[in-house]
Amino acid sequence: MYLSGDSSGMKHAREELITSLRSGRMASDRILSIMNTVPRHLFVSEALRYRAYTDISLPIGFGQTISKPSIIARMVQALELKGSERVLEIGTGSGYQTAVLARAASSVVSMERIEELCKRAKARLFNMKLMNVKFYHTDNFNDVDGMFDSIIVAAGADVLPRDIFDKLNDGGILVIPVTGRSGHDIKKFYKVNDTCIDSDCLGEATFVPYITG
Ligand code: SAH
Repeated sequence: MYLSGDSSGMKHAREELITSLRSGRMASDRILSIMNTVPRHLFVSEALRYRAYTDISLPIGFGQTISKPSIIARMVQALELKGSERVLEIGTGSGYQTAVLARAASSVVSMERIEELCKRAKARLFNMKLMNVKFYHTDNFNDVDGMFDSIIVAAGADVLPRDIFDKLNDGGILVIPVTGRSGHDIKKFYKVNDTCIDSDCLGEATFVPYITG
């Protein structure tokens, strides 16, 4: 697939990163193949492009960061997407994870509290012709209509926002980083018969804060 600004050097670097994520069993072949189609270097500033295919988080302005590819792989994998789901993403950031979700699910609603980040992400996904994403500039998930099969939060919450489960369909999955002993614990929950079942902790990482109100 041709993407403007995606040189063969960048493609090669991206393939090497994906190969290392594959050997670390960070996600399924399906998710890693999708990540191999998303040019992460176009989601960071030009000055940082040379580091886009290293497994590190990078600044995206406004005090925010694009998450490490291995963390994105693990979190998106945890949603168990088959391709038919309606997904809510809280914390668009650069839009990188949004693009991965757009290719892995049927439709995505992505919310971002910082207007400029929301605008930039929207333009990037438009350039990639990803039309199954709706962007919202808000910090309150109650502003978003409808219910979701999967919800992924890209910022670390001090306390689990319990009313988020009201947006989740029965059988749905929530993935959210919540403050733990050191940094954040990435938690996964299932909603079954209107009850939320705390499943695995997917690991620890440090996220920018989830801010609302
Ligand atoms: N995975 C993203 C990284 C997002 S960083 C990427 O690929 O780039 C987390 C983002 O969550 C930040 O941009 C921050 O502004 C946003 N955020 C924090 N709290 C939020 C809230 N309550 N609602 C919407 N966005 C929020």
